[in-house]
Amino acid sequence: MYKSSLLIFVLLFVVLSAFADVSYFIPSEATQGGYFSVFVRMEETPPYQVTLYDTKGIERSYDKLYPLPNDRSLYYGVLGVDSWWPAGEYKVVIEDEDSFEIFEQTMTIKQKNFLSEDIPLNQKMSNLRTDDSKKRAEESAELWSVISANEESGFYSIGNFAIPLSSYKRHSAFYGDRRVYIYSDGKKATSIHNGLDFAAPVGTPVKACSKGQVVMAQSRIITGNTIIIEHLPGVYSLYYHLDELLCKVGDIVERDSLIGKVGSTGLVTGPHLHFEVRIQTIPVDPLLLFDNPLLDKTQLIHMMRSTKQ
Ligand SMILES: [Zn+2]
Repeated sequence: MYKSSLLIFVLLFVVLSAFADVSYFIPSEATQGGYFSVFVRMEETPPYQVTLYDTKGIERSYDKLYPLPNDRSLYYGVLGVDSWWPAGEYKVVIEDEDSFEIFEQTMTIKQKNFLSEDIPLNQKMSNLRTDDSKKRAEESAELWSVISANEESGFYSIGNFAIPLSSYKRHSAFYGDRRVYIYSDGKKATSIHNGLDFAAPVGTPVKACSKGQVVMAQSRIITGNTIIIEHLPGVYSLYYHLDELLCKVGDIVERDSLIGKVGSTGLVTGPHLHFEVRIQTIPVDPLLLFDNPLLDKTQLIHMMRSTKQ
């Protein structure tokens, strides 16, 4: 079902500026729930940020541009496309530190279909979901502040992600599912599922999907025992409902490191791992990351070839 989204990475577009030492790469297409990277090579004025504007000119997302550690004149950025943003013509703008526009390009965001599901909740889970306590609000603000952080030092891995479980029964929910929660009193509420669920027995080992730094490892009201790992500036993997936390904030974990165990803590209807990927706070489809790198080296090769022409 996600294979059509792989087109994002196939349909590439390279534009060269009039100056031989300045070039940039922005893909011409992306899909709802997908992500894309941009690259800018500049020797003099460094680019500062990349911003995505929607069909109405409203800013949807932005990323600071940082140089690659092994090539300081090559800057990269990664942006996500949320599942509910309208399809159509978007605009990608790259600016310098004085908000002076360096490059601009249109990008087509393509429509994708998502599943719908009803989720009946018992009294206890209904109470959890409608919890409006100060503690829940504080937890929410804290998580937001963690996944909003974007620092150059957050550079750990650029490749694809490993599946975080070596075995699981099935995907009990997919990214982008349109959910209707049915509370024990019959009232309903809608939401969108931002992650990918793996149904697996309590105690199944959970592994880091890629190298990174643990930025959260704690118990939360809704998401239960929760781990968040940063892989690139503003790029995070999230693991919810764990039985046990086997890492702590500050740990540098490798791809496939044991970080926790599957559980049923927080708002759940059965044991499972909720695995989520956030790019500049935007949730994207984790299935894409299992098959595609965060930063696509083939794009770099494209750009370097073009620069030499
Ligand atoms: Zn989930």
